[in-house]
Amino acid sequence: MADNFIWLRGEIVRQSQAFVNVLSPAAQFGLNVFEGIRCYWNAEEGVLYAFRLQDHLHRLLQSSRIVSFESPYSVAEIERSFRHAIEANDFLCDTAVRLTLFGDGEGSWSSCEPISMFIAPMPRARTDLRKIPKFAACVSSWERINDNVLPPRAKVGANYINGRFAHLQARRDGYDLPIFLGADRKVAEGAGACLFMVRSGELITPPTTSSVLDSITRDTVIRMARDIGIEVRERTIDRTELYLADEIFLCGSAAEISPIVSVDRFEVGRGEPGPLTVDMLHRYLAVASGVDGRYPDWRTAVNRSKAGSR
Ligand code: PMP
Repeated sequence: MADNFIWLRGEIVRQSQAFVNVLSPAAQFGLNVFEGIRCYWNAEEGVLYAFRLQDHLHRLLQSSRIVSFESPYSVAEIERSFRHAIEANDFLCDTAVRLTLFGDGEGSWSSCEPISMFIAPMPRARTDLRKIPKFAACVSSWERINDNVLPPRAKVGANYINGRFAHLQARRDGYDLPIFLGADRKVAEGAGACLFMVRSGELITPPTTSSVLDSITRDTVIRMARDIGIEVRERTIDRTELYLADEIFLCGSAAEISPIVSVDRFEVGRGEPGPLTVDMLHRYLAVASGVDGRYPDWRTAVNRSKAGSR
């Protein structure tokens, strides 16, 4: 086990020493709200950039509000702790950070006090542009949770068991990953990533009321695409449209831009990552790592090489 440093309840501890009570609502019921945040190493500048950190922290507090967690920390305090966690590890490489507020008492799912936080950075390389992955997807027979059951808008640990069912079924059936339909039988999202399809040159994604997480990468793709003159529409998507799409990709902080090359064994386009998908992936990584200097507000420098720029 990599024994990285974790920020836990105000202290920096080794992962092997980062404990929670087995009776905590977090351990027992998945009662936590969290963010998965990526940081990208810019070798040219000798700087590690967190991508859209403020937006992630804002969403964390929205998730907290929905589950009635009173965050003991302000956004500024969480950002300070985030830097502290990165600095403790001194990572000068692409990094993924799990940032979690969790029910840390001994209570049930209804009484979650006290609420604690951990911030766990771990090295994680970005998608290799020389070996772009291709995913075979299926439409899952599991239904996406919805706003009146377990709101997907809140990034709550327990929600991910829904994704687990669909993911395991997809793997057992010989696919790489699932695509969920919502209770309305329209396309929702993947198990941990939002979906875009390209039809007739238009980029189309389900609206944020279609049982999806209000994804920051989704917003990034929409903004970048519009800025280069691509038409983007947020509208509901039928299952069979996936069979007719020219391109499909999933997107998320972890997924980045993940090309889907088939759905239910129907080839998407030519069965290869499409041109717009590949272009978006290049643009996304260039912007996130600061190689493309546009959208400076999206990047927060969280660590620097002591030797300065290289
Ligand atoms: N949907 C779900 C269910 C997710 O877990 C994620 C990953 N956070 C996403 C979509 C993508 O969200 P984001 O772009 O903010 O990472």
